[in-house]
Amino acid sequence: MSSPTTHVHVPAGHGRTFEVRRGQFITVIDRDGQQAADFVAIVNGQANEYLSPTHTRRRLDSLFFSVGDCLYSNADEALLHVLHDTVGVHDANVPACDCTRFSVDFGVDGHRNCLDNMHDGLREYGVSAVNVPEPFNLFQNGPVTADCRMQVTDPISKAGDRVVFRALKDLVCAVSSCPQDIIPGNGLLVTPIDIVISDDQPPFA
Ligand SMILES: [Zn+2]
Repeated sequence: MSSPTTHVHVPAGHGRTFEVRRGQFITVIDRDGQQAADFVAIVNGQANEYLSPTHTRRRLDSLFFSVGDCLYSNADEALLHVLHDTVGVHDANVPACDCTRFSVDFGVDGHRNCLDNMHDGLREYGVSAVNVPEPFNLFQNGPVTADCRMQVTDPISKAGDRVVFRALKDLVCAVSSCPQDIIPGNGLLVTPIDIVISDDQPPFA
């Protein structure tokens, strides 16, 4: 008999925070396609250890991750194992969008943003706004050119594309459906992200 699963719906342009236990599976689904999902995690009960793209890049000797890789913490501990990925294009190099990104770069005050979306739920775990970790930007398309230029353009993900991780420690995760609707990055249409947390490994179709 299979164990119960937990479903977390992240409304378009908003964020959600959830706990996972060591050994559980986290499936992050781009419900409608072309939607970036900023993803951060802290070790539950130990907010000074968190998922770190910087440390992961060094560990992997790569700017990007692939199936079979682990994602590491700022203490060089593996926190997530990448089990399945129907897209293969994600970003681990740029920060979450925040209020100044919109006010300074686009002249829009009070725009929803990933940093606030993730901080909203992490606050109760003792995480201050300036200590929200750098994200992995799932489904975000941030190619690096041969001459080392960085870009952000629309995701290649299609409706239902997903990434499956296994948690290697007890974690508190926060996910933001990126509200960027001014420049390419989400197909200029912000849509929801769905998350499934399960004890049993999900079937890989
Ligand atoms: Zn964003």
